[in-house]
Amino acid sequence: MKLLKQNSNTTQSRKEFLKRSALAGVMGLGATSVLGYCGRRPEEEGGEETSSAATTGACEDVSALSAAEKQQRDTMVKNLKYVPKTADAAKRCDGCVLYTQPAGGSACGGCQLFPGPVAPEGYCISWQAKAG
Ligand code: SF4
Repeated sequence: MKLLKQNSNTTQSRKEFLKRSALAGVMGLGATSVLGYCGRRPEEEGGEETSSAATTGACEDVSALSAAEKQQRDTMVKNLKYVPKTADAAKRCDGCVLYTQPAGGSACGGCQLFPGPVAPEGYCISWQAKAG
């Protein structure tokens, strides 16, 4: 009799566990969808394009960097949430105090925070307006 009662409790616990797991899965899927939507760029949503696609694409070429520089860039780009196209036209890399002007006829500038090309129309969370 005691064994039967334990089995009943175990079955009940298992059902409860499965219910909670299913609920957690649905909640996780919902959170992923929301986060995925938040990370989209305006042009992916059919929104206003703020820059030339040709310029932005060229500014993503990191083939001239060393492996160490690529690693540093990847880490900083991720931490700073750098994007090659800003969602706010008033906050662009070329209006940031940390932006370095393009050289050698390149359309891409640089950033004092990480190596490699930076799109003039890019943005990151360290954006600071240039003085006057
Ligand atoms: S610090 Fe300024 S120039 Fe560098 S990526 Fe961020 S917004 Fe662009």
